Order: sequence, then C-alpha cells, then structure tokens
Amino acid sequence: MKCPNCEGEKKIIEFKGRGLRQCACSECDGTGQVEDLICPQCNGSGEGMHDGTVCSFCHGTGVEQN
Ligand SMILES: [Zn+2]
Ligand SMILES: [Zn+2]
Repeated sequence: MKCPNCEGEKKIIEFKGRGLRQCACSECDGTGQVEDLICPQCNGSGEGMHDGTVCSFCHGTGVEQN
C-alpha cells in the first residue's frame, strides 16, 4: 500500500535550519510503498473458517485493517 508517511511521494520535506529540505522517506526507504500487513486470522487468504465465507477479521481483504 501507499506509504502513509510520505503519501507515496517517496520524499518528505523537513525543516532543516532555516529552510526546507527534501529527504528520502525513512518509513518506506524512498520507495513510496510499504508492505501490507497480512491478516493474522486468515494469513492473507481472506477466507473464513468455513467454505464460502470471508474472514470476519479483515472482511475478505486479507490485509489487517486499522
Ligand atoms: Zn514513505
Ligand atoms: Zn483475514
């Protein structure tokens, strides 16, 4: 998913001394993307405990919801 720290811009603007400075975002190491958190309940499959159901924890997305 898009890095929430730099909003996918890969860089953040920092106040340094008297001016603004662009730095590579440390949150995503300058990639603009961060790893999705895999849902621990279904291990990312999005499937529920029974066939044809979706995981109630992530609502079938396979990604841990905030
Ligand atoms: Zn970032
Ligand atoms: Zn899940």
